[in-house]
Amino acid sequence: MAFEYAPAPESRSIVDIASSYGLFIDGEFTDPASGRSLKTVSPATEEVLAEVAVGDETDVDRAVKAARRAYTRTWSRMSGRERGKYLFRIARIIQERARELAVLESLDNGKPIKESRDVDVPLAAAHFFYHAGWADKLEYAGLSTAEPGSPKPLGVAGQVIPWNFPLLMLAWKIAPALACGNTVVLKPAETTPLSALWFAQVCQQADLPPGVVNIVTGAGETGRAVVGHPDVDKVAFTGSTEVGRQIAKTVAGTSKRVTLELGGKAANVVFDDAPVDQAVEGIVNGIFFNQGHVCCAGSRLLVQESVAEEVLDRLKRRMSTLRVGDPLDKNTDIGAINSAEQLAKITELSQAGEAEGAGRWSPPCQLPEHGYWFPPTIFTGVSQAHRIAREEIFGPVLSVLTFRTPAEAVEKANNTPYGLSAGVWTDKGSRILWMAQRLRAGVVWANTFNKFDPTSPFGGYKESGYGREGGRHGLEGYLR
Ligand code: NDP
Repeated sequence: MAFEYAPAPESRSIVDIASSYGLFIDGEFTDPASGRSLKTVSPATEEVLAEVAVGDETDVDRAVKAARRAYTRTWSRMSGRERGKYLFRIARIIQERARELAVLESLDNGKPIKESRDVDVPLAAAHFFYHAGWADKLEYAGLSTAEPGSPKPLGVAGQVIPWNFPLLMLAWKIAPALACGNTVVLKPAETTPLSALWFAQVCQQADLPPGVVNIVTGAGETGRAVVGHPDVDKVAFTGSTEVGRQIAKTVAGTSKRVTLELGGKAANVVFDDAPVDQAVEGIVNGIFFNQGHVCCAGSRLLVQESVAEEVLDRLKRRMSTLRVGDPLDKNTDIGAINSAEQLAKITELSQAGEAEGAGRWSPPCQLPEHGYWFPPTIFTGVSQAHRIAREEIFGPVLSVLTFRTPAEAVEKANNTPYGLSAGVWTDKGSRILWMAQRLRAGVVWANTFNKFDPTSPFGGYKESGYGREGGRHGLEGYLR
């Protein structure tokens, strides 16, 4: 029997979106030098939400100067304990205004409200709480320093973030930078600037000294200006491997420190002794969470041949219950694709999968008329040479491959230029450890997937980037 759900939309009246936003520099919203702006739309309806300023080199220079002044005069001189108080205050404001923030994030990004409400916003607050705790304990972080005493901040951090977790990526970048005594110029993604601008208001509400956090909105050009600015001491980037490469070239030969968190093509490995229903939940969470717009998504399912049929049957049954639609509806499991460009990319790669001979399957589901949508999709009969097994699709599309022995599973899992994450599903603890030692991935989840915690370092091997974010290791990227 099919149960029908009544719509359960979250009210959007809780959030006030201005018709236009300036750049947040030196504690104030100001107009961009060029006078140019871009529109940010709701990917679920294509409705224009706001006009947002486009910052150019002049604006970035102003922001870096403000950050330098704040660093020299205030922030780097303040005790860790005082800095920590500001971070605690920001964390609490995020918690207090969580509902408003979750609605804003879902509107601008297209992700389901239950994810922004239960994952993005609480984790963002947790990152500020966690790093607030470190601010006066850096001396005890176990990092080696040239001089005795606390390790020293680097100076001004230039940070560029993507659109898949707009607020959470901001928290991953800004919280450790500030805790360690650095000041920040951050550029959010072109398609999802609103939560960063909301955060700028939170900085005002928390009385953060002007210039400690600067938000410069715009597109790729603006990001390039941040990365290339000669007075930036540290570059932190999350995004595509292609842009990561360009950034590595730009900073090569300079004294800038860099951390890069780039793409992934993670293997989620299911052995024949795995608890099948739990594994199926983990597969679904691994690839359909956040519409698959996740750098560590389990986009390659490696399933042991003897249970492949059973796993696929149950997976299809489970996928048939996923609800695609209005991101603000609390029943929604899969929201909108973030942009027309991303939808075109997912569509193109899926067509390539079919053309190369893989079998395509999606449950019947009605997609809304407006906005950008893609149904949850699996490809079976995928070989390692197929594009859908090698390239990051960054959408709700799973490639299924099979293996016979643990050694074959390891070989196939590692057969990728990326190395951000991996999953292992098995009843045997010894096998988990055996696999984890051999998988070339920054994070290996066992009998779970997509678990994040601010205390745990996150980052990649190979073309997934370098440096770690989160945990004690993440502090290293912001300290001398
Ligand atoms: P990009 O890497 O192009 O964008 C990430 C951020 O970098 C954005 O803020 C972008 O600005 C900015 N940027 C773009 N060009 C430059 C540059 N030359 N110098 C400095 N900053 C720059 O990712 P896309 O959004 O274009 O997505 C493309 C693909 O990247 C996706 O399909 C996916 O495969 C992958 N991706 C991976 C992510 C991850 O977490 N590993 C996250 C996002 C994407 P703007 O967006 O405003 O143009």
